[in-house]
Amino acid sequence: MNYYIHIPFCNGKCGYCAFYSEGCFTPQMVEMWLDKCCRKITGLPPAECETIYIGGGTPTILTLPQLERLFDAVSALRPAAETEISIEANPETLTEEKISFLREHVNRISIGVQSFSENLRRTLGRKCSQTALENALKLVKKARFPHWNIDLIYAIPGQTPEMWQSELQQAANLGCDHVSCYNLTPEEGARLAAELIPDEENSVIMWELAQNTLSSYGIKRYEISNYARPGSECHHNCNVWQGGLLTGIGPAAAGFDGRRRIIQPDSLTEWLNDAPPFIDEISVEERRNEIFAVNLRTVDGWTPEKWEKVPNADSWEERQRIIRETIAQTSEKFFDISPERITLSPDGSLFWNTIAESMI
Ligand code: SF4
Repeated sequence: MNYYIHIPFCNGKCGYCAFYSEGCFTPQMVEMWLDKCCRKITGLPPAECETIYIGGGTPTILTLPQLERLFDAVSALRPAAETEISIEANPETLTEEKISFLREHVNRISIGVQSFSENLRRTLGRKCSQTALENALKLVKKARFPHWNIDLIYAIPGQTPEMWQSELQQAANLGCDHVSCYNLTPEEGARLAAELIPDEENSVIMWELAQNTLSSYGIKRYEISNYARPGSECHHNCNVWQGGLLTGIGPAAAGFDGRRRIIQPDSLTEWLNDAPPFIDEISVEERRNEIFAVNLRTVDGWTPEKWEKVPNADSWEERQRIIRETIAQTSEKFFDISPERITLSPDGSLFWNTIAESMI
């Protein structure tokens, strides 16, 4: 089982984000969330723990005593010493004490940098000052987490390809082993959705720059938006993309039971009041096509061995047939197909949305 724990609190709302989180909250709200979250975790049925991902929101907005309580509960999931335990962190909420505590409890930290430029962060509506960013990165680097990721955003208004390349170089030079590069896509309902118009003209150039620049540091693309040194890929995300079982804990957390996606209410009050989750139930065939499409975002794509582990998988021949059908609706040049593997070509990766739509 993979576990996702959602911390639904943030220090304000970033301009592009419509994810569920409370940008304004009281200490009582955090305590009520924490009480219930710990009860939920410790009350889960026993299962083999594959990965744990603590995301948000801003997990590191919790105080040190609150983090201690959360990780005390997390130990009830009985992760093995090598189990990947990831936490997302925002630089302005990190202190030396929190970092040394996290270094003892997680083996992967993901830092929400988004941009090394204070001006571009301001454009994005992010609050982190340059001093806070530099201090946090110094501390994280010094702590030597086994794995650490830096999140970056590109195609920000005012960002040139040269500026983007310098961001990539700064990330790689810090020594992280994983970089996530997201094309700016202001979500519907985000605070600055109307003003933050992504630079579409340069976004393909910037996507290619990410691959070329990071690979020169040994950090290779393994998914459309994710780059890692070999062996440092995020296991949690890889498992989820391949249809792995997932338990989601906390408001807006999503789970997967092999057939249905179970999405907790995206409201702290409703979640605290035990409102039922939203159940996304589609046919077995639609679900396996969805999983098939999602993992085509990865560079390794599908092999027959990987595919047969998917819940309710059909035959490899059937997958080849689906691909032939998709090619008829899209283009042959989008795929690299052999009897042992199905992947997208670089052109296909750029048109993943179209491919997924025709498949699902
Ligand atoms: S982008 Fe992250 S830190 Fe910013 S509001 Fe959304 S969840 Fe919070």
